[in-house]
Amino acid sequence: MDYLIVGQGLAGTLIGYRLEQSGHRVTYVDAPEQTAASSVAAGIVNPITGRRFVKSWRIDELLPAARQLYRDLERQLDTPIWQEIPLVRTLFNRGDENDWLARGGDPAYADYLIDQPDLGSIPQITRPAYAYAGVGHSARVNLAGMVGAFRRQRLATRQLIAAPLDYSAISPEPDTPPRVTLPGGSVARSFDRVIFCEGWRARFNPWFGQLPHGGTKGEVLIVRLDSPPLDRLFKHRVFLVPLGDGTYWVGATSSNSFPDDRPTPANRTYLEDRLREVMTVPFEVVDHRAAVRPTVRDRRPMIGAHPAIPSFYLFNGLGTKGASLAPLVSAWLADHLDHGAPLPAEVDVRRFF
Ligand SMILES: Cc1cc2nc3c(=O)[nH]c(=O)nc-3n(C[C@H](O)[C@H](O)[C@H](O)COP(=O)(O)OP(=O)(O)OC[C@H]3O[C@@H](n4cnc5c(N)ncnc54)[C@H](O)[C@@H]3O)c2cc1C
Repeated sequence: MDYLIVGQGLAGTLIGYRLEQSGHRVTYVDAPEQTAASSVAAGIVNPITGRRFVKSWRIDELLPAARQLYRDLERQLDTPIWQEIPLVRTLFNRGDENDWLARGGDPAYADYLIDQPDLGSIPQITRPAYAYAGVGHSARVNLAGMVGAFRRQRLATRQLIAAPLDYSAISPEPDTPPRVTLPGGSVARSFDRVIFCEGWRARFNPWFGQLPHGGTKGEVLIVRLDSPPLDRLFKHRVFLVPLGDGTYWVGATSSNSFPDDRPTPANRTYLEDRLREVMTVPFEVVDHRAAVRPTVRDRRPMIGAHPAIPSFYLFNGLGTKGASLAPLVSAWLADHLDHGAPLPAEVDVRRFF
């Protein structure tokens, strides 16, 4: 089949890759001047989240799918993507510690909670915390590196057009394949199916825009530390993530109401203050970035066909945990597209139509 993918962030990359692997022709259109969440995210895979230390949704199924797909892409793209790396978080007080220990009594959490984690260089560069806890099966996905390498390959093979797609260039047909005038082209071309993967900007999509797209803006700092290297993910209010070149990702903020997706001085100050609270070594801010997470009201991805235009599909709603969700969710969508496999009801876009 001939597919058009609109948006080549994490969602567009993974579904496009899976479709190519099963022999389809895939064309991508992606607007380079818009900031993709995938290019700003740290790609943290944190199986235990929230104040109550709850296992992330379907994490036992998500992790093997993520490990397999990212390792496969690593070979295909010759780029480091999947890094299994310990995660240490601070506990603030006795209440936190009790909640953590109570979770530890649940056998379903046995693999995920580490009571006395190896702290590495954390005590040398941060103030002492009330207590520390380790999270098992944590990882980091180099989303920006993966999406960038995939983009360069598809540009080289002329499968990707680096320009925004104007929705008026698409003519949806209920019974025949949609015709699309690609950016820079003058003649409309038929595609069997179009998959929209625009991240938070899907709210502007004429066919899927009415869905409950949330949008949660996040800002991050990239800092250089004058210190011994930190070789684990560390969370104390904000995350500190080693990027491997002496710099660290620090973040992120979270806001559901925002005038635009640009970095703000107030959030830079907020992040610097959080960092000063915890670090005992100097840091230098080398970058400050912002993007919007494609969140959904019920916190589940949205995938599947438009009810009235069967050749239009959506892959969206990866929210705050795209790195761990996208590999399995893209497998569900690919199986649905290729074999008509039913989608899990929790992620099927029809729950909102
Ligand atoms: C600050 C921050 C920190 C995060 N940290 C983590 C983390 O640690 N772990 C984690 O799992 N997740 C994290 N996330 C969430 C993660 O980034 C997202 O879940 C995921 O990247 C979303 O991918 P996407 O492909 O749906 O959207 P995006 O990455 O935003 O990609 C959408 C693409 O579509 C393109 N596009 C949109 N409209 C058009 C159009 N009309 N024509 C052409 N192209 C178009 C855009 O240019 C963009 O390239 C974070 C997000 C943010 C913002």
